[in-house]
Parts: sequence; structure tokens; C-alpha cells
Amino acid sequence: MTILYQLPAFPVEEQLKSVVSILEEKLPPGAPRGVQFYLGQTRNGLLSVDAVKDVIQRTIPSQYQNSFHLPFASRYVDSQCRLDEPASEAFLGQYLALAQDLGCKTVLVHTGTTYYHPLATLPEGVDRKYQWGVRSPEDLESSKHEVYRRLHAIAVQYPNLDVALENAPLPMNNTSGIDPKKAFLNNMVTTADQIKNFIDYAKCTVENLGLCLDTNHYLRMLSAMALYEHQDPEIRGMFAAIGRREDTNLPTLTDALLSGGRLFIVQFADNNGWELGKRDVRAIAPSRNPYQLRSVIRMIQENEREIPVSFDVDETDYVARPHQRRTLDWILSGVETPIE
Ligand SMILES: [Zn+2]
Repeated sequence: MTILYQLPAFPVEEQLKSVVSILEEKLPPGAPRGVQFYLGQTRNGLLSVDAVKDVIQRTIPSQYQNSFHLPFASRYVDSQCRLDEPASEAFLGQYLALAQDLGCKTVLVHTGTTYYHPLATLPEGVDRKYQWGVRSPEDLESSKHEVYRRLHAIAVQYPNLDVALENAPLPMNNTSGIDPKKAFLNNMVTTADQIKNFIDYAKCTVENLGLCLDTNHYLRMLSAMALYEHQDPEIRGMFAAIGRREDTNLPTLTDALLSGGRLFIVQFADNNGWELGKRDVRAIAPSRNPYQLRSVIRMIQENEREIPVSFDVDETDYVARPHQRRTLDWILSGVETPIE
């Protein structure tokens, strides 16, 4: 099947106009296209719902098929974004309504269920229940059910939206090997087993509940697992509780994702997870991991349903977007040669 090409943008006029002009310039006529509206992390302050709606309606062509990335929290805990907590219902609800009003095809959701490292000093005011190891396995299981139940409720309330839960990175914040205690853990939809578990749930409940594969999160998880194998037994044990490394290779994960046709969207993203300890703004994804990226693109092309892919590679300039332009060129040229 074909790819629905999307570029991510903060809903501000300059960025929205820029991504529309890049898509119009690069894509062949008739190629499906759209924008992924990205609101970012809650602690950075969010634009008002009305402002977002207004600017999008003024700048985005009506035939575009867009997706909406709900606000999220990573590297800190925000109960408004935790799908295992009731506060998320009202908070995320306003953005779900907005995504529907804007006629978006897909919404992307993070579970928000992050935990501080067991040895981390918690910031003041943070409940100890957010430290990994404090909740029992039964508590974690019931938190998972809360997440599933809320996602199900969202899918039922918004039948025209494909609700896509994102694979979690592991850990959220430690790919450089500097201080493992700064790691954030998330024990949901990371490994193939967890993904299968979620898909099994989604398949027997509603049609419009599925997954988002974020390639950056996937690769950060691989980097993290490799890194943690060299840590002391306690830390290795912590990872063992989340999943086995054998359960994370790309073919296994791909099989899990494609089972039941529940892969709804791909965030084709890169950043420092692609290479341990290295953040290089020139290190755009296809030149670093061409084999894995080709596999992802092939998987999408061979899939029966049209999958939106947002080309979310690191940028130095979010208006000109040289890296995203190059990635689009690479995909359109048939992904055969790694780009320089
Ligand atoms: Zn995301």
C-alpha cells in the first residue's frame, strides 16, 4: 500500500506554511499528504485550543489528511497525561475534541506511565508511587488495565479517529550512559510481547484502536537495553522486569505490529538514540541505520492499509527543514541507497 506523507509541525503559522510548501514541492501530484500537529510537552506551556484551531484552519489545505499528537509528559510525571489516572480524561479530552473538530484522521497518544529510576532522588512534591519498584507487579498490571480502559473509552467516543498508542522508549532519558539514575522507565508497549498484548486487547474491543511505531523510541530502547547489560545486577534486574532483549528485534516487533492490522501510523523519527552517547544534528536517520529504516519503509509499503508516516527527523531549522527534505527525497527515490 502507499504511504501517506506527513510532516510534523507545531501549530504556528510559520511552521505550518513551511511544511505545506515542502510537501507541495516534493511530492508527486496525487500522493496523499498531510501534517502532524504536534503540541509538545505540557511543561513547555501549551497553545490554547482556540489558537491552534484558528491557525490550522487558516493554513492547511482542506484535502490534507492530518494527524494530531496529543500533549504529553516525558522526563517528569504529569498526572494529566497519565492514562492510568482520572485527571487525564478532562485534560486530554479537550485536545481529542479539537482533533475531531479539525477532521484529523489519527491521534497519537503516549501512555504517560513513566517512573523515576529506583535510585533517583525524587523532586520535591513527587509521590513515591512514581518511583520504579514501589508499585507491586499487581499494581502495574492494574495501571495497565486503566490505560487500556481509557483508550477504549476514547476510541468509542471518537469513532472517526484512529487512536494510536505509541511504543514507549526505554528509558525515557538516558541514552548517553552518563547517569543511569536519571533514567525514566515505562513498562508499556515497548517490547513485542507488550505490543501483542495491547493489540490482542484492541482487536477484541474496537476497530479504531491501534498503535503508532515511533522509530526513535524503538532505537532508544535498543540502545538502552545494550547499555544496561553492562550495569550492575540490580539495574539489569530492573530491565528484566520490563522485557527481554530477544523480544525487541525489529522482525519480532514488526510481526507484532502488523498482526491484526493495527499499525495506524509511523513516526519516522531520529535523534540521539540511534547511536549511543552521540547527538549529532547531521546524523539524520537514513544515513545511520539504512537497513532498519528500509525494513520499516518496506513494512509500510507491503501493508494493506495506507499508513501515515511523519518524517520527524532532527532539524537545525524548523522552517527550512533541510533534513526532512533530504529524508523525503530518500524515501521518494526508493530507499535503495543510504543518503550521505
Ligand atoms: Zn510521540
